[in-house]
Amino acid sequence: MHSIFPMISRFSDHHNIHLRRYNRHCLSHPLPPPLPPHHQSTKILHLPHNFGISAIEAAQPLDYKSKIFERITIYKTLKIGIVGFGNFGQFLAKTLVRQGHTILAHSRSDYSAIAAELGVSFYFNADDLCEEHPDVIILCTSVLSTEKVLRSLPLQRLKRSTLFVDVLSVKEFAKDLLMQILPLDFDILCTHPMFGPESGKDSWKGLPFMYDKVRIGHDESRVLRCENFLDAFVKEGCLMKEMTCVDHDQHAAESQFITHTIGRILEKLDLDSTPINTKGYESLLDLVQNTSSDSFELYYGLFMYNKNAMQQLERLDLAFESLKKELFGQLHEVLRKQLFRTRERHLGVLQEPRALLKLPPNGNGHALPQRSGSSIS
Ligand code: NAP
Repeated sequence: MHSIFPMISRFSDHHNIHLRRYNRHCLSHPLPPPLPPHHQSTKILHLPHNFGISAIEAAQPLDYKSKIFERITIYKTLKIGIVGFGNFGQFLAKTLVRQGHTILAHSRSDYSAIAAELGVSFYFNADDLCEEHPDVIILCTSVLSTEKVLRSLPLQRLKRSTLFVDVLSVKEFAKDLLMQILPLDFDILCTHPMFGPESGKDSWKGLPFMYDKVRIGHDESRVLRCENFLDAFVKEGCLMKEMTCVDHDQHAAESQFITHTIGRILEKLDLDSTPINTKGYESLLDLVQNTSSDSFELYYGLFMYNKNAMQQLERLDLAFESLKKELFGQLHEVLRKQLFRTRERHLGVLQEPRALLKLPPNGNGHALPQRSGSSIS
């Protein structure tokens, strides 16, 4: 005979893996999918809305209660507090609300009207937001203001196990800051969605999402909460890239910082669309559009708080100089030839001076040939 809680009574690790997959599927599909074949004889437990834990306490061993809570947690959508409700905070909120998460927001400026439109509860006061005990706090503040904002948050009003997530575009700095300021009980997940309101306006499919599980407690509810949060990006089709904050900063300086710098240089040229745009030129116009919609503070943060950025700026400078040298070198050669030809024609001599003709190429270690009739003094 089946027990009243058949799934719960078979909580092996193996089952857990399948149940998690099943739960993820349930979150994105309204109707339950068929169970994997080896679970066919297993009955799904549908909890009634007024389900009370006390009703089963007498009949079941004690740990069933925690298992049931665990199952509820797996299904649960998250209560997420967004601190910094500017450009990027609002952009994230739209998708998280659509996915069914409860979103609370706090910012220096008053975004209550925008928040109401998005289905987000806006709190003028950080204390009020923290007293709502969100499962997760996402820091969406500018790189430059994050330390000040974080230090001003009333952390004592939050649940002790709150998961802190940051989305700052520089990661070593963010990680050090969170480790330094947050009490040990708080979990820390450093992330960088490699897209924004422009590049991700239609879809997040195929867009990279970097994350580093800097400090996630070992108990299952904390691990699941972190997975639940990451699932928000998995569900949208992001390319999930787990890597250290150090590696991120190296890659980001070589890619994102260079992209933003070129975009900002081109923006200064005030480029116009022409009737004969090439595909390449169209990409440049897109690049300007993409990077100029971000605040200058964001760009400055990429430079100031990523120790690899300066080196990339210098490389860019050197590359530009060397390209110019290559161009001017060619030009110099052409001009020189023209100059000699004109002079020689004028003098009635069409040959290059013999000494010049005999010059060896640079750097081959040969001495210069001696001119006939002359001696080296
Ligand atoms: P941002 O200019 O970097 O940051 C704007 C946010 O910072 C706003 O919420 C603003 O609050 C807050 N802020 C700025 N100065 C403040 C201060 N002195 N005190 C308190 N709050 C302050 O622009 P963003 O695009 O919204 O970026 C937010 C974060 O997301 C940044 O860390 C950025 O690196 C990261 N990020 C951005 C993108 C993107 O494409 N935009 C992509 C990935 C990650 P108020 O608006 O209330 O003034």
